[in-house]
Amino acid sequence: MKIVVTELIWEEGLEVLRQMGETDYDPDLWKKDSLISAVAGADAVVVRNQTRVSRELLAAAAGLKVVGRLGVGLDNIDLEACKQLGVKVVFARNANAISVAEYVFAAMLSFSRQLDRAAEDVRKGNWNRRRFTLTELYGKTLGLIGVGEIGSRLAARARAFGMNLVGYDPYLPPYETACTEFGVVMTGLDQLLSQSDFISLHVPLNNHTRNLINKDRLALMKPTAYIINTARGGIIDEAALYEALKAKKIAGAALDVMSREPPAGSPLLELENIILTPHIAGLTEEAQVRTSVLVAREVCKVLRGQASCCLAG
Ligand code: NAD
Repeated sequence: MKIVVTELIWEEGLEVLRQMGETDYDPDLWKKDSLISAVAGADAVVVRNQTRVSRELLAAAAGLKVVGRLGVGLDNIDLEACKQLGVKVVFARNANAISVAEYVFAAMLSFSRQLDRAAEDVRKGNWNRRRFTLTELYGKTLGLIGVGEIGSRLAARARAFGMNLVGYDPYLPPYETACTEFGVVMTGLDQLLSQSDFISLHVPLNNHTRNLINKDRLALMKPTAYIINTARGGIIDEAALYEALKAKKIAGAALDVMSREPPAGSPLLELENIILTPHIAGLTEEAQVRTSVLVAREVCKVLRGQASCCLAG
């Protein structure tokens, strides 16, 4: 068996793959011209979110049986082409959902209590207790757009903080745990946007969700509300977001993902009321060990002809 790993994988997962077969590992292969020739003859290709698993790559890897995605979003993989060619795709279902949910809390608490700014102010010799008298999360409304693995974990944590929860997810059955156990009240998208103090996005990027949060939808938000995107760049219209933040039509935004990463030259970089992070919401040691081992094991299962619990589609 030949396995090609084109991006960063944790050692624990690599070990699992090496036991299965000859494993070529180059964390920078995704950006090299040699990518296409390197996958020739591969039975499995393991990627994160940078490698474009295109028709061209799939054609070069004739005989490919499985693509392993070390993460959740599948927008870098041509799923239709994989289906046509009989190539299975496995992904890290659930493996980094807790990390992403905790990131959203870090962002909400950063907006609500501004510890970094208060600490920086004290370091300058100030003692501004009034300036840093801010707000509680308790009693505020969190709107979840997409109530899947991450959205429901976030709901469980937000409930413990005494937040009110509203959700928008037209594909969610009404008996889902998020609604029955964590008190998420399902509503329409526009109602969610106008009611929420914090809005958090947890939908995949596809033709239905591209620019889902556009100028008109941003205009529905309260001027005191914050929006947090850990899902994918492209779901929020960044030009419209820039205008809304600059004119203080909304209070702030936290973006872990952007339409171009890194966002060199983006006007969003100039704004004060935005937190930009380098696509790290799912990146914790714990989540990466889980992701690497899970995907490696599922790739091996497919190579052995066994059923996988993490198949896409
Ligand atoms: P999931 O599949 O469990 O949940 C997605 C939910 O979105 C589903 O319940 C689905 O019904 C809903 N949905 C789909 N289309 C929708 C639409 N048009 N409107 C409203 N709801 C819709 O996925 P998840 O594990 O919760 O992950 C969500 C997304 O988060 C992923 O697709 C991925 O892009 C992103 N993600 C980012 C990071 C990061 O590091 N920033 C890490 C993990 C996942």
